[in-house]
Amino acid sequence: MSAPASIELEQPFAWDGDHVAVDLGGGARGLFTTRRGGVSEPPYDSLNLGRFTDDDPAAVQRNWQVLHGLVGGERLMLAAEQVHGITVTRFRDERDERPAHADGQATAYEPSMAIVLTADCLPVLLAADGAVAAIHAGWRGLAGGVLEEGVAALHDLGATGPVVAAIGPGACGRCYEVGDEVREAFGLEAAGGPAPIDLKAIARDKLAGATVHDVGLCTMCTDGLFFSHRADGGVTGRQAGVAWRA
Ligand SMILES: [Zn+2]
Repeated sequence: MSAPASIELEQPFAWDGDHVAVDLGGGARGLFTTRRGGVSEPPYDSLNLGRFTDDDPAAVQRNWQVLHGLVGGERLMLAAEQVHGITVTRFRDERDERPAHADGQATAYEPSMAIVLTADCLPVLLAADGAVAAIHAGWRGLAGGVLEEGVAALHDLGATGPVVAAIGPGACGRCYEVGDEVREAFGLEAAGGPAPIDLKAIARDKLAGATVHDVGLCTMCTDGLFFSHRADGGVTGRQAGVAWRA
């Protein structure tokens, strides 16, 4: 198992204990959790934040309390059941509705935090002056335009200025094999069988115009540090990508 501190991170990413902090600029902060530091038993060991896994709900609830601690106190947690769609919730204040299903959370409400959960799909954090967002971006979401929708959500919330994006731990371009139907969704040539695609490179293309930082960590080949749907055989936990304004 890799020791997190021995893995070098480039600015604006930095280790915060077992987890990855990111400075999104202008007072916007982000955190990508690893699977360490929680209370869940195998195969969800240990910081499983996935409420829709078959883990013990009491353990997941404890893990969410750990997450509160990691982000430095109580904030309104904005999260939803993710469905590989492109809906991004716009949240201005506590009167706003919080849909049950969404693949992204954008917020201008300072005492809140935007959260997505992943295990190979990309967690992408977005920030501009006045709002932040967290986006769950698997191949379906990327092909459908979930990142563009995330940027639009920031602007709908009144955010201005340059957009900064942070791509967190997700399957890398060597590990993530897909069939031709997925290649087709991105206008790539057919490979005639399973072949890897680079979700992070696709995300960068979709975020043209933003400053994009990639943490450079793969959930599938960074041994034991992350939950990986594919590497763990489909039964595993979920880690978080979190964005907030400090
Ligand atoms: Zn990999």
